[in-house]
Amino acid sequence: MHVAIIGNGIAGVTAARWLRKLSDTVRITMISAESDFFFSRTALMYVYMGHQRWEDLMPYEPFFWKKNRIDLLRQYVERVDTGGKVLHCGDGSTLQYDKLILATGSSWNKFGWPGQDLRRVGGMVSAQDLNLLEEITPEVRSAVIVGGGLIGVELAEMLHSRHIHVTLLVRDRSYWSGTLPPEESEMVSRHILSQGIDLRHDTELGEIVDDGAGAAGAVITKSGERIECQYVGLTAGVHPNIDFLSNADGLETKKGILIDNYLETSVPDVYAIGDCAQVREPRPGRTPIEAVWYTGRIMGETVAYNILGRPVAYDPGIWFNSAKFIDIEYQVYGEVPADGRKGMSTIYWEHPGGEKSVRINYDGASGRVLGFNLMGIRYRHEVCEKWIADGTHVEEVLQKMGMANFDPEFYKQYEAEVVARYNRQTGSNLQLRQQRSLSAALRFLGFKSRTPRTTSPQDAQ
Ligand SMILES: Cc1cc2nc3c(=O)[nH]c(=O)nc-3n(C[C@H](O)[C@H](O)[C@H](O)COP(=O)(O)OP(=O)(O)OC[C@H]3O[C@@H](n4cnc5c(N)ncnc54)[C@H](O)[C@@H]3O)c2cc1C
Repeated sequence: MHVAIIGNGIAGVTAARWLRKLSDTVRITMISAESDFFFSRTALMYVYMGHQRWEDLMPYEPFFWKKNRIDLLRQYVERVDTGGKVLHCGDGSTLQYDKLILATGSSWNKFGWPGQDLRRVGGMVSAQDLNLLEEITPEVRSAVIVGGGLIGVELAEMLHSRHIHVTLLVRDRSYWSGTLPPEESEMVSRHILSQGIDLRHDTELGEIVDDGAGAAGAVITKSGERIECQYVGLTAGVHPNIDFLSNADGLETKKGILIDNYLETSVPDVYAIGDCAQVREPRPGRTPIEAVWYTGRIMGETVAYNILGRPVAYDPGIWFNSAKFIDIEYQVYGEVPADGRKGMSTIYWEHPGGEKSVRINYDGASGRVLGFNLMGIRYRHEVCEKWIADGTHVEEVLQKMGMANFDPEFYKQYEAEVVARYNRQTGSNLQLRQQRSLSAALRFLGFKSRTPRTTSPQDAQ
């Protein structure tokens, strides 16, 4: 059987690795237009900032592909003939497949702004975006970034590290307020401003102005303000890369490629995973497209089982994500809606310095813990996940919270203050019983580092 995978990002590469782990005989070809090898997209910024070299972003040594018999093809697939099971590539060549995995990722959004196609206007998603930014940087003294999600703040940090004046336009009242609860959102806004980045809330892009030579020279906001700049970064979200599939017979798409719970598309033998895939029936509380690293990885593993005839339903597990807002690390586990929800109670503790906080959400009636939001403090993923999965009572969590903390040794611990906050809020008299302790965490987890997410009926036998 020949499995062709379009896309060599985390979703595609995980699928290839698992196909090989599970089968010695399957033929695997991974195709990408972007790069010869899989690289860590989330670390692109560190190349620009000089912390890492491009080659440091490649998690696998060059021999890995040959050793695992994964053929790599640097091509752009222009068309998929689903009837004939043939891929048509940009250079006119074709490739026959038995099963196809679409793992084509996403690209940055353009919303039809006047001037969006000028030179020195770009996004920050691909290796090509990084190269373009590097190329034009000598021409840039000030930049405007449009959109304040995770990528917007990363791009701001990148440019700022090269002493470029950055104005960051966000249309919300505070940074990422559609995702972060108000206190954390305001914390990040304050932090961005404290770094010397000119963050403008409630501000939207109107147009990008030509400098007279076909490049960006300024932006005009919707309220009419003109901001001079030599670069405009567009970071107002991403969309799945599916344009090249418009002629693929029978393939149903909406915003992304529609897939069932087994990651199969409307065309037999064609699967979609990662950023480009849209789950037809997402689980409660989850969105149909989750453009994050770890869901791509879980989908990659799951699709390999399904292709090899070992059916496994896609299980995204308990939601988590982590990122960094300049110097503030961020982790979220479980349910942390920006505006809370009915029946959900919250304990929120913030350090007086305003750059660290702990939020614990729980069910007001049963006390069952539902979610954690950490800013500037690190909590163990596995411990938080187990508490949520087990429906542990919030008071037990609070008493044992030190077990979750994995800040480096000698870092100050704040769990007692979170407990005190809970006591003030509820009139309780709880005491913290567990300080930071790796051995306690390992005992709690039964010495397993992580529960496997995908099991097949065969594995269980
Ligand atoms: C700057 C940045 C920071 C991020 N930070 C985080 C983070 O902190 N945490 C997190 O969870 N997520 C983060 N993400 C999101 C995460 O990186 C993505 O969700 C993930 O990389 C998507 O993986 P994927 O395998 O689905 O697709 P991709 O990694 O996008 O790979 C798809 C590949 O397919 C190729 N391709 C597409 N169409 C074709 C075609 N027709 N022919 C040939 N090749 C094609 C593309 O060129 C690309 O190489 C970040 C993303 C960016 C850009």
